[in-house]
Amino acid sequence: MRVAQLGSGTPEIAVVAGVHGDEPCGVRAVKRLLDERPTVERPVKLVVVNEAALERQVRFVDEDLNRAFPGDSHAKTHEGRLAHELIEELEGCLSFSMHSTQSHAEPFAIVNELSETATELVPQLPVATMVETSNFAEGRLFSEVDTIEVECGLQGTETAAQNADRLTRAFLTAVGALPGDTVARDLPVYRLTDVIRKERADTYEVFVENFAEVEPGDPFAAADGDTQVAQEPFYPVLMSPNGYRNVFGYAAEKVDVLTPSPAAD
Ligand SMILES: [Zn+2]
Repeated sequence: MRVAQLGSGTPEIAVVAGVHGDEPCGVRAVKRLLDERPTVERPVKLVVVNEAALERQVRFVDEDLNRAFPGDSHAKTHEGRLAHELIEELEGCLSFSMHSTQSHAEPFAIVNELSETATELVPQLPVATMVETSNFAEGRLFSEVDTIEVECGLQGTETAAQNADRLTRAFLTAVGALPGDTVARDLPVYRLTDVIRKERADTYEVFVENFAEVEPGDPFAAADGDTQVAQEPFYPVLMSPNGYRNVFGYAAEKVDVLTPSPAAD
C-alpha cells in the first residue's frame, strides 16, 4: 500500500485508488495529483491500496478486498491483512474510492446509506446516478469507513481514467480542498433490493441496460441459453455477463431524485 499526502496537517479527507488491481483508472488520477501537487486548502491523504494486485493486473491476489473488510492483521489472505491496514490508515477520514466496471460506461456513485454527507456531496460530482447499497454492503470498505465510492467507467479505458481525474477534482472541490465551485445537478437515487445470481455455465448473456427499468415478463439474462424472466419490475445495477463469478449484478428500486436547492439571491 502506498500512502502520500498533499498539504500539511492531519488529513480528514482521503482519495483511495486501486482497491481492485485490474481497475487502473483511479491510480492514474492519484499519480496525476502527485505529479502536479496542486496547492490544497485542506490536507488530503492519497492511498494506492492493492499494489501487489495492480502489478499483476488482477482484481485481487487471494480474495476480493472490497468483500474482505474489516479484515485482520493476522488474516491468512493478503487482502484480509490489507483491509485491516487500510482501515487504520483511513481512520477519521472521509474517503473517496475509485472503481471501474465491465457493466456501465457512465460514472455513478455508490454509498452505504443516504447520509447527510452523501446527500450534500454526491450531487456536486459529475455522476449520473447514486446507488445506495443498504443491505448489500457487507465486507465493503464503506461498511467500516465513511466512504463515497465512484464507478468511473469501463475497466481499462482511457475514458474511465479521464473520468477518475474529473471526479477526484470535483470531490476535492466539493469538500473545500481545491479552490473553485462545483455544479450541482439533479441526481436519481437507486437502492439495491436483490442480488441476481447466476448458475455455473459456459456462456452468459445480459439482455437489459443498467438503470433502465425492466418490466415483469421481460427476459433479462441467460446462462447457457437458460433465460431468466422478471417477475417484478426492477432496475438493473452493475449487471454484466462476466463481471462477477457468481452473480450477474443487482436489482434496484428507484427511491428519489435529489434536486439541488436553488442558490440564495
Ligand atoms: Zn472495483
